[in-house]
Amino acid sequence: MTKSYDVIVIGGGPAGIIAAGRAAMLGAKVVLFEKMEKPARKLRITGKGRCNITNTKSIDDFFNEIEPEPRFLRQAFQAFFNNDIIELLNSNGLETVEERGHRVFPASGKAWDVAETLISWAKKQGATIECNTAVDDILVTEGTVCGVSILRKGSKTVQSVTAQSVIIATGGLSYPATGSTGDGLSIAYELGHTIMEPIPSLVALHTKPNAPYADKLIIKNVNVWLEVDGKKVAEEFGEVFFTPEGVDGATILRLSKKAIDALDHNKKTHVVIDLKPALSNEKLENRLQRDLTEASKKTFNDLLRGLMPAPIARFFCTQLKISPTKPIRAITADDCKTLVNMLKGVKLRVTGYGGWNEAIVTSGGVSIKEINPSSMESKLVNRLYFAGEVIDVDANTGGYNLQIAYSTGWLAGENAAKKTAK
Ligand SMILES: Cc1cc2nc3c(=O)[nH]c(=O)nc-3n(C[C@H](O)[C@H](O)[C@H](O)COP(=O)(O)OP(=O)(O)OC[C@H]3O[C@@H](n4cnc5c(N)ncnc54)[C@H](O)[C@@H]3O)c2cc1C
Repeated sequence: MTKSYDVIVIGGGPAGIIAAGRAAMLGAKVVLFEKMEKPARKLRITGKGRCNITNTKSIDDFFNEIEPEPRFLRQAFQAFFNNDIIELLNSNGLETVEERGHRVFPASGKAWDVAETLISWAKKQGATIECNTAVDDILVTEGTVCGVSILRKGSKTVQSVTAQSVIIATGGLSYPATGSTGDGLSIAYELGHTIMEPIPSLVALHTKPNAPYADKLIIKNVNVWLEVDGKKVAEEFGEVFFTPEGVDGATILRLSKKAIDALDHNKKTHVVIDLKPALSNEKLENRLQRDLTEASKKTFNDLLRGLMPAPIARFFCTQLKISPTKPIRAITADDCKTLVNMLKGVKLRVTGYGGWNEAIVTSGGVSIKEINPSSMESKLVNRLYFAGEVIDVDANTGGYNLQIAYSTGWLAGENAAKKTAK
């Protein structure tokens, strides 16, 4: 027998769970279909397992962190913002703490707890969650959705489930092992929507030169900027870590979107790292001159080791073409100047970037021109809604991406339920 619901939510990530909970809270009969064996697999690994739940900055500050059109989210943020998700979690037994950069985390330090709290909240509102169930199509008659077809794990038979409204909350394409494989994008495309090209975002950069021997080495408190065609276009302060292919870490992730965009437009793209941001060139040169006179028996490598970890010293020797065993007394004034310049700006040409298995978010998705910002309803298909990363909006690191998921989920759930009641 074909089952019938008021609202079907496709995808059990943060956007789908909030959407299902909100619709059920308003009295709708709701089912959420999740294709994996458990909902919210990605949410459980966010923030290196700690989950940066949201950020306590203002809506206007959020707008500075979101692309391509942050104002699309104004009504979603007004409907359900950072204080609302914190309140929802706190009142359902999950304590939260605020850390540096206004970032909010669970007090337990476990992303898993955030996922479980949201799931139990949505169930408490009356939403049903069915796992191991993939939606493979949305059924539409005369421009209005009427249900979905599903395939349960282990079954070969596609089943139809009817509903008055359907919410697509299937995420993007990043970390496909968590279930986010872009199904919602294909389904939306089949229904006539424009899909802005999905590109990995918040991702490690591949560079030349690179320093594979420095793999996993973290350097903290450095200034990093992005140069496109010789012009500084963005700057970040914080940590960088080395990978076999290039560089990663918070600063790099934040610069990655602009870097990828420049690279994809065949522009000369460089990441430049100032290893000694607290020292001017002059101060650094004076310090080196002092080291040179005080330690005349030592080698160039000894000099470098006073300034940086061993793998980076090796990188400097290779790039400066100075032997590590060269005696300090043989270091010329020119060598000294070149060294200072490099300490103040290690220049790495960006040659590529990590793929979907590494990207934190997907940039691109269903065009916001085809979604009503006050309801998240499609402008092309009646009673079809979108929520979360499937939409063409994405943000920097800092808890903004999850907030987009909750806010759009809330608004989509609310409107889907209200329309059903009419
Ligand atoms: C490693 C990592 C760390 C991150 N850390 C943070 C952080 O700390 N803070 C932050 O703000 N953001 C973080 N993000 C980004 C954040 O996790 C995402 O933006 C967010 O999960 C998007 O939520 P969503 O509900 O739209 O999609 P998803 O979380 O991707 O969920 C989509 C769900 O839909 C299901 N699905 C897909 N297709 C189907 C189908 N056909 N049928 C049924 N179900 C389907 C999937 O299995 C999945 O469960 C991180 C991302 C990654 C990868």
